[in-house]
Amino acid sequence: MVTFSCNQCGAGLAFEGVRTTTCPYCASPNFVERPPSAGQPDPAFAVAFTGDAVWARRRLEGWLGGRTLYADPALRRARLEDLRGIYLPAYLYSAVARSDYTASIGEHYTETETYTTKDAQGNEKTETRTVTRTEYRPLAGQHVGYITDVIVSASAGLDHRTLGAVEPFDLRQLRRFSPALVSGWIHEEFSRDADDCRRASRSEAIDAVGDKLRAFMPGDSYSDLAWRTTVEWESFDPILVPVWVFAVRYRDDRPPLRVVINGQTGAIAGKVPLSWWKITLGIVLLLAVIAAVIFLVTQHRPAP
Ligand SMILES: [Zn+2]
Repeated sequence: MVTFSCNQCGAGLAFEGVRTTTCPYCASPNFVERPPSAGQPDPAFAVAFTGDAVWARRRLEGWLGGRTLYADPALRRARLEDLRGIYLPAYLYSAVARSDYTASIGEHYTETETYTTKDAQGNEKTETRTVTRTEYRPLAGQHVGYITDVIVSASAGLDHRTLGAVEPFDLRQLRRFSPALVSGWIHEEFSRDADDCRRASRSEAIDAVGDKLRAFMPGDSYSDLAWRTTVEWESFDPILVPVWVFAVRYRDDRPPLRVVINGQTGAIAGKVPLSWWKITLGIVLLLAVIAAVIFLVTQHRPAP
């Protein structure tokens, strides 16, 4: 087992039987061997890869295939072999969230009102119409909910939001970690501080409480919803999740292109650099076609 560190993104990666001279996360060649970091948490569980490199490459080809028309031509230099499977470090968080809330609950009711108007001759007349009004009443209470399966990235190479783009993982397939699981794969050290990750998990859990409370509000409408949440019975386990990462430095003056594939479900996310001259040419051609069609239609109109 060798341990490498990327001086660009800061990821520390351990592997054996894999040859790479660039960082799999950011394609930086500033990738150097170093001793393993001390004080690493032992992963408690892991989600295993479900497909091999051939499967992942096919996913990537299909995804890139639909996007190459307007892609930067330098992208063609990218080699699909640069797609790497990595066990990414993360924390799995669950808790019981207890929230005290207050809100103003609105109930709709209808009323018939009379009003005066003028008819076509200008005479005043009285008519009736039905209007909907809302009556508000205060509501306060306590809501208890379970927050489960919050995953927070502990990776230096792939941040929480990027991982979120290919979530969810099917956590029913979660298995107890064993070193045999990661043999032959690249796996990253736990780079982010556990306390930071715990705070991030909590704030994601509290955001999720907001969604639950909004769905829980009775009545026809509500306003002024406010809540205070405390979390109890927290569990917080270091885990590994499988991702395929395709990182290419297609131009020295640009950040690398990166496509991420969920190694369990195949969900894929990334951004393809666009070539502006190709897009401009596409628009010009489209306008030319429209102009030609208008020209032909006007020429063939029968003479009056
Ligand atoms: Zn890197």
